[in-house]
This record gives sequence, C-alpha cells and structure tokens, in this order.
Amino acid sequence: MTRSEQKQVPGIYRRRVGDAVVTTINDGFLDIPLAILRGAPTERMEACMAEAFQPLAPRLTVNAFMIELGGRRILIDSGGGSTTIYSMGLLPENLKALGLTPDDFDTVLLTHIHPDHSNGLVGDNGEPLFPRAEVTVHQDDVTFWSDPALRDGRSAAAMPYLDSAAVFLKAYEGRIRTSEGGEVAPGITLLPLPGHTPGHSGYRLCSAGETLIIWGDTVHVPEIQVPFPAVTNEYDIKESLAAESRNRIFDMVARERLLVAGMHLHIPGFAHLVRGDGGYRLLPEAWAVKL
Ligand SMILES: [Zn+2]
Repeated sequence: MTRSEQKQVPGIYRRRVGDAVVTTINDGFLDIPLAILRGAPTERMEACMAEAFQPLAPRLTVNAFMIELGGRRILIDSGGGSTTIYSMGLLPENLKALGLTPDDFDTVLLTHIHPDHSNGLVGDNGEPLFPRAEVTVHQDDVTFWSDPALRDGRSAAAMPYLDSAAVFLKAYEGRIRTSEGGEVAPGITLLPLPGHTPGHSGYRLCSAGETLIIWGDTVHVPEIQVPFPAVTNEYDIKESLAAESRNRIFDMVARERLLVAGMHLHIPGFAHLVRGDGGYRLLPEAWAVKL
C-alpha cells in the first residue's frame, strides 16, 4: 500500500447549532499511558477500556472546532502543530480541505494553553502561524504560564509544557485577549472550568434557541472519565479542582440535556450525557449525512 492509500478522508464534520455552523476539525491523536490516570483502581480502568473495545493505552482523539455565525469565523483551539508529536498536526491540511487557510481567521479562542491545543498556532521556529488572529484565553492561564517561578520545579504537572507555553505567549504577544468568563464573541461565552490548568475553560454557543457546550479537556479518556468523573491525570495542575469542574459541568449538561462537543471526544465529536449506574453515560451523536 502506498502512503496515500493508507490515508483517510479529511477529518472534518459540520453540524448546525441554531443559525451557526460548527465544524469539528480533527488534528490527529495522542496515545497516553493508562498509568497517568488516577482516582480509580487500575483493574477497573483497564476493564473500562476492554469493555469499550479500546486498547489499554488510551488513544485520545485531538480536535479543534470552528464556529461560523453572523458572518464571523472563529477557531476554538488549534491542535498540536508540527512541533510536538507525529500523530498530531493535521489541522492545516483539514483546513485546506475546507477551503481555508490560517489567514482566514481573525479570532481564535483557546480552552487552555497546552501543546495539543495551542501548539498548532505556532510554527517550528516559534513564529505565529495565524498572522491576523487575536487569541482569547482565560486570564488565569496567561498568569500561570507566564510565571517564571514555575521553572523551580514545584509544579511537576506544568514542567513538560513550560517551553511550549512560553513560545506561544511570545509568538502572540500583544494579540492575546484575556477573559475571566462571559461573552467573548456574539453568541459565545467562556465558561471557566479550572483545574486541568488554572484557566481551563469551555465555551457555550447559543444561537436561535439552541445551545452547544464545547467542554475542552473536561474528559481526556471518555471510556473511563465518563463513568468515573473522579478520575484525574497527572498533568492536571490541580487534580481535585479538575474533578470538581468535571462534576459541575457533567451535572449541568445532563440536567439541561445540552449538546456537548469535546477536544478529546472521538469524531464526529458531538454527544449528549446522561446519568447512569452511579456515574454518567456518553451518547455520541451519529454522523449526519446532511447539515
Ligand atoms: Zn488536551
């Protein structure tokens, strides 16, 4: 088989939410060791993976999303770029499949500053890849990742990501807009969900009576963290707060029966959440042939 025969069709998927069109843009995947998850017995977590017919080392889907509403085009997160791991970095070619380039965006919203979300904004030499874009991110992430004292090793969970965060912050210096919650674009509000990083946030899109919650990294491994929301991972900056935020948003979307999308939900990436068996169950939405 040649390389091109092994390649899939572009990982893009469009869905209407009210008057908006939301597009899942897959950036690839990321394999993580199960050992970085904690908060449930290993055998129980292995059983979750086996019951879902998944490999024991969880394979995280990595997505970004685009919202088109009222003549505006907004990108939420940017995937891992080419500077991190070979299995990510598909965003540019998937944008191309949509007929778009980074020049077409003047607004990028970030759920948090972590390589699989923000590195796609930066080139191999630290240059900004979205030349016109202003980037919105929660103030607490900018404050945290800008703190030189982090280099003293006190936050082990932050250590692997200090350099990529610094490169991103420098590349977009003067073009970073911060928020602590509330409306960041017409119809889109930032929802603080701290813990995974101090400023980790989701976004709520409301249009023509319909709502979508893009919940960022509320779950990394849906097979485990949906039934066991207490399960955290060693790269959560504050694990107990991450679990608390997960429980809070789970409760809200289940109670209000809201549509969700996630950076690490398998594509097409839209789902509902319901309570069940003492935890929750995720009901992924089927691929719709037409918008
Ligand atoms: Zn992530």
